[in-house]
Amino acid sequence: MKASPRLSRTRNDEMLIIQCPVCGAEGDETDFHCGGQAHIARPATSNPDNIADGEQRDYLFMRFNPKGLHFERWRCDRGCGKWFHAARDTVSLDFKAYYGITELPPADVMKQATGQWADFFKQATAGRPAAKKTAAKKTSTRKPVSTTAKKS
Ligand SMILES: [Zn+2]
Repeated sequence: MKASPRLSRTRNDEMLIIQCPVCGAEGDETDFHCGGQAHIARPATSNPDNIADGEQRDYLFMRFNPKGLHFERWRCDRGCGKWFHAARDTVSLDFKAYYGITELPPADVMKQATGQWADFFKQATAGRPAAKKTAAKKTSTRKPVSTTAKKS
């Protein structure tokens, strides 16, 4: 397992310490914004009449609430402003991984998921040989922000 530069919970056991996988900014929980549960897919249609009430209810209100490993969306408020995913233990508060907003967690972290998350990842990776590719990717490594795109 390739560890992130910093996945420990706190400095002085007071604040969550988080590191953005996009720009590498590190800060406490006040420098970031938790956006709730990760991997929630909007019902895939542009016509609301095609969405069943139960499907819409689940999208809007139904969330996992595990004791243990959980997957969340976080936003880098004082850094790049981008959203990313984090795997965090709700008991110990330790972050297990940070990864891109369009990515699945590293395979070793996904394997630790239990309950609803285990079922979710089983479905998400079913028939998908790319799951190994995602796992091999160094999602927790800092990725420099491109400075060449804005040159005029
Ligand atoms: Zn950032």
